[in-house]
Amino acid sequence: MKDLIRPAYNAGGYVFATKAADIARSAGYERPARLASNENPYPPPPEVLEPAGAALQNANRYPDECSMNLRAALKEKFGNFSYVSGVGMDGVIETVIRTTIGKGDKVVVSTPTFSFYRLAARAYGGEVIDVPRNDDFSVDIGRLSDEAADSGAKLIFLCSPNNPTGNVIPKNDVEKILKSIDGMLFLDNAYVDFCDEDYIPLMNKYDNLIIGRTMSKYYALAGMRVGFGIVPGWFEEYYERAQTPFVLNTVSMAAAAAALRNDSYTARYLSIVREWRERFINESPYPTSGGGANFVMFDVSPYKGDEVVEMLARRGVIVRSCASFPGLGDHYIRVSIGEPWENEIFLKELNSL
Ligand code: PMP
Repeated sequence: MKDLIRPAYNAGGYVFATKAADIARSAGYERPARLASNENPYPPPPEVLEPAGAALQNANRYPDECSMNLRAALKEKFGNFSYVSGVGMDGVIETVIRTTIGKGDKVVVSTPTFSFYRLAARAYGGEVIDVPRNDDFSVDIGRLSDEAADSGAKLIFLCSPNNPTGNVIPKNDVEKILKSIDGMLFLDNAYVDFCDEDYIPLMNKYDNLIIGRTMSKYYALAGMRVGFGIVPGWFEEYYERAQTPFVLNTVSMAAAAAALRNDSYTARYLSIVREWRERFINESPYPTSGGGANFVMFDVSPYKGDEVVEMLARRGVIVRSCASFPGLGDHYIRVSIGEPWENEIFLKELNSL
């Protein structure tokens, strides 16, 4: 029977964090430092949780399929654009792919980067073209534009700040790509709240740009699974046709709308990220990459990433090995900025490996 299963889906990465957590538990750490998943370590405040709790009263009814309240909150926050939503940005990525890609269509990915683009594109029959980043993990704009144009790619994925390398793509470079391609550009801005670049103004100029955003990181709602896309007006209708019916639940939508309207709680987290990101970089005995997101990538050579994950887990610190990111060597780890006590232990243990 297993022959019936399509091999394309294997997200993999999340299993690493679970394995490290098991090692930490066996070593006696009931409450290890959790720095593997780029989450906001602080739960959202009552202004966010109460509307979500109240929404449970409507659990007997299907959710609002048009997400009116969430859409209104997005417009208030980011401007009068067209919006689509999904179960996490993962859900948005998958639906955008389902909307645009058919068998054999080319999808360009700027590698190394977030792995889900390639997994989802392949699952829908897309052919992935990897365009390697430069040695410092910046994007080779000329090469990416050329490969996208030459291959006739329908969809190009760019991640800024990039997971796992942390590089921020200058807005001008994004614009160069937008001008030179025939396909759509999906600009993944999962971590944009942690850097100084703002790409939203580009939505006023280009009708082949989708900006992907998530409530999982900065807004502390990873467990609610809400992502959204800022899309060109013409695209919205096609996305909605490809979307699973009633995909976002009532509670998650209420939490997301309330978070967007009451976002002052994120200020403390943002200042912790900015402070500790510098300290991670300055106090690391290993070369680092990044600086634009809520995590830092470390080149832990001569160790392997997987080894360091195990070593740190035995000392009560859970981080992510980057070995599963295609196009990256096996000697990197990615570490999220957590609460100060977590960051403190991580730096201490990293310095005494
Ligand atoms: N894009 C990037 C770059 C990410 O790192 C993540 C989460 N790890 C996502 C998208 C998906 O986020 P979510 O589905 O939680 O919204």
